[in-house]
Amino acid sequence: MPTISKENYLKSIYSLNLTYGESVSTSQVAMKLEITNAATSEMARKLAKQGYLHYEKYKGVELTEKGRKIALQIIRRHRLWEVFLIKVLGLSWSEVHDEAEKLEHNTSEELINKIDKHLNYPEFDPHGHPIPNEKGEIPQMPVLVSLLEATVGKNYKIFRVADESSELIEYLTKLNLFLYQDIKIIEKLSFDNSIIVQVNGTNHSLSEKVAEKVSVSILK
Ligand SMILES: [Zn+2]
Repeated sequence: MPTISKENYLKSIYSLNLTYGESVSTSQVAMKLEITNAATSEMARKLAKQGYLHYEKYKGVELTEKGRKIALQIIRRHRLWEVFLIKVLGLSWSEVHDEAEKLEHNTSEELINKIDKHLNYPEFDPHGHPIPNEKGEIPQMPVLVSLLEATVGKNYKIFRVADESSELIEYLTKLNLFLYQDIKIIEKLSFDNSIIVQVNGTNHSLSEKVAEKVSVSILK
């Protein structure tokens, strides 16, 4: 069984895959995990030997079926814990990610399946990320764009918020920007790439940094 750092390594490759495709460079992994390039390559060699990924110097890393399975298991545990902490224990939207980061490494298959059943098999976590089921299958997602790519004058639904920053989530909560909230893009200011959005009739200005962390689906 992989250790915590190995699990995080495989998980980070999986999430980089979603943005950059199947093969990612070790420097991208290093940046994501905030470790040195040397440590990243070292771990890549180790995990390749154990059959979790393919690694070729200068070519990058690619998850094997075995590695992908582990990554999906960790993600499943993380996201189900987030739902559990909110729904059952009443933690706030902004608190659950850090707790789930720890719990995801120490949960048996049996326990996570029981949590899944208790929650009635949710498809999305509290930040809008899909939850793999017991077989590792991922629910269908609508097409998402970041707020930066959204079109002025159109209506959207907030579908996902990057969950790494509790400050960001607290800030969005203050503005009444929740998951599944409908919003309208009022204006984009080209000089600083900030965006004015309308929520329940009130306009809010969002900085570029905030807008790129919020993904929306178009409302037809
Ligand atoms: Zn999370």
